[in-house]
Amino acid sequence: MIIIILFGPPGAGKGTQAKILIEKHDIIQISTGDMLREEVNSGSSLGKTAKSIMDKGDLISDDIIMSIIEERIKKPDCQKGFILDGFPRTLNQAIALDYLVENKTLNIDQIIEIKVDEELLFERIEQRKTEGDLVRNDDNTEVLKNRILIYKNDTMPVLEYYRDLKRLKTVDGMQSIERVSEDIKKLF
Ligand code: ADP
Repeated sequence: MIIIILFGPPGAGKGTQAKILIEKHDIIQISTGDMLREEVNSGSSLGKTAKSIMDKGDLISDDIIMSIIEERIKKPDCQKGFILDGFPRTLNQAIALDYLVENKTLNIDQIIEIKVDEELLFERIEQRKTEGDLVRNDDNTEVLKNRILIYKNDTMPVLEYYRDLKRLKTVDGMQSIERVSEDIKKLF
């Protein structure tokens, strides 16, 4: 069982690195963003609540996120382990995760930050758009600014929390996909 947490601001390449890691370690990826987008697409009541919040780039409440995570990690496909992508995003979520993991006598193996300059994030999102990749409702410049601001305000304290506990490893996300992936590989 291996548990990895991947941090990075929007556009840092978390999703790309998560895909590489799942192949290597034969584990699955749990992306709260993807799970919420599925809820939105399915038209569920949770999806309806989530949509307007996500379209603004704001955060879904910690209670909702925790119940989604708790349900998800119970599933059999999580038995070999998982990568958390986009979670925990607030200090409350991080503390709730510690509690959850302790109760299940699980261990978080790697907590990795992919660090990227703000300017590059905007460039990458603009490029994503021109390349005609699936454009998300929350990928326009205004909303992206809000997502980056929220990352700074709500998620940076989570990184500090893990850094203080000497549990955080940081890799330079300004390099090529291959280099970033090499640097992550060295942590194991
Ligand atoms: P990003 O590209 O910004 O990392 P994600 O795909 O991880 O985006 O998440 C998209 C949106 O889903 C977020 O802006 C937020 O509204 C919601 N969301 C995802 N994960 C969480 C979470 N752990 N806590 C609160 N809201 C979340």
